[in-house]
Amino acid sequence: MNKGNKLYEGKAKIIYETNDKYLVIQHFKDDATAFNNLKKAKVEGKGVLNNRISEYILTNLGQCGIKNHLIKRLNMREQLIKKAEIFPIEFIVRNIATGSLTKRLNIPEGTVLDKPLLEYCYKKDELQDPLVSKEHIYSFGWATEDEIKLIDSMTLRINDLLSGIFRGIGIKLIDFKIEYGKVWNESLKKKEIVLADEISPDTCRLWDIKTERKLDKDRFRKDLGNVIQAYQEVARRLGIMPEETNISEVNFGKTVPIKLKKK
Ligand code: 5GP
Repeated sequence: MNKGNKLYEGKAKIIYETNDKYLVIQHFKDDATAFNNLKKAKVEGKGVLNNRISEYILTNLGQCGIKNHLIKRLNMREQLIKKAEIFPIEFIVRNIATGSLTKRLNIPEGTVLDKPLLEYCYKKDELQDPLVSKEHIYSFGWATEDEIKLIDSMTLRINDLLSGIFRGIGIKLIDFKIEYGKVWNESLKKKEIVLADEISPDTCRLWDIKTERKLDKDRFRKDLGNVIQAYQEVARRLGIMPEETNISEVNFGKTVPIKLKKK
């Protein structure tokens, strides 16, 4: 598979074309941004960890019937994925109130929600990804009612599966953001909706079950320190610490042996 021109560069990833018009390469950068790009930094090793964690999660979801864009991980920082027309919507699921929900509606931090709360944000950096209703989505043709119905049911299933994966390693899934796109299915001769983008500590809030220690991008957003160690801890608990990483072996003050797993 030949890597071609850069098609798109986002805040944390770059997409390159390939010699197959239906496939692209997704490259994970070390760049971290928050607050609509106001806060920026390089977090060394983040791209490597997100590539590996997202590969693990999407592969597991795929095995449970969630269609997604991943073909395979190519190397430390790159994945071969299906080229998707991304819906201009961020799909957010919340199990426990925190972040923008608590600020916007004055809901007490940590409130356990009766059932998962689905939110939709219009993907537009200039507007700071505003919250929108389903009616906005239909009115402006960002997705149809049938598409949203399918996406909602996939999203709730993903929440169940992800919550289970993380609970198994002592982590609470507080909330997360996912994206979907449409890809060409050659055997069906039509486009189909798939989970796209990434699922990683950049896109989820993950708290240690016992201590409620944050193991996600909030460590960067809130200047809590030990950002890479938190991502590393998630990878370690999933049993997928990437080989050949030069990330510090210090894990929240304790030295932990790094297990190098060959794929
Ligand atoms: P909140 O709306 O509370 O800021 O975020 C809710 C969840 O969605 C969090 O898990 C957060 O990480 C994720 N999220 C929302 N918007 C974005 C975004 O633009 N980029 C990333 N990486 N995650 C987002």
